[in-house]
Amino acid sequence: MSCSQRDSKVELTLVPVRDASDIFPEYRGTAVGDLLSYHNLGAPHRLHTEADLLIGMCMDNRLQLRIPPGFAFVLRCAGANVGMLDFDVSFAIAVGGVRSVCLIGHDGCRMVDVASTREAFVSGLVENAGWDRKNAEDHFDGYCSRYGFSDVASFVWLEAERLRKTYANISVAPLVYSLDDQSLHQIAETNQPVT
Ligand SMILES: [Zn+2]
Repeated sequence: MSCSQRDSKVELTLVPVRDASDIFPEYRGTAVGDLLSYHNLGAPHRLHTEADLLIGMCMDNRLQLRIPPGFAFVLRCAGANVGMLDFDVSFAIAVGGVRSVCLIGHDGCRMVDVASTREAFVSGLVENAGWDRKNAEDHFDGYCSRYGFSDVASFVWLEAERLRKTYANISVAPLVYSLDDQSLHQIAETNQPVT
């Protein structure tokens, strides 16, 4: 599986994890490695009394992580766009004590080209929730530009870079959840060797 980076200058590749040796060296022995081991490899669940990881992932109902209780804080929001949840991220780090953040985009995300859903969004709020049409249009138009993106891998890659700048001592890993096989994929720059 691969994808093209359209929102920045680097090409990105999705790297599957089918065996422990597939996990990137920088993730091994970390909470991100644990996440990949739990979800992809079915590793036995350890007891977690404190959260090791903050996971930001899409609210899409087709995504379900296989992780043990207590392992992670999980922020679920449209498109894994935790940029709208800065306080939550800061709280998990500052008070929750996590030192690692993982952002999980996914294929088939309805935040890709979200602008095309404008009429469905507006008419849905009018018909399902009783909104006034003008208010629904303003609501969509006010938020749309903050959510839409063209490629999930590039979105979480760039969002990870932003979080690293905001939280300098925190490690941030971008991943992609594949609906095809319900597994997590790592993201690498195409021009970097994958070990
Ligand atoms: Zn999504």
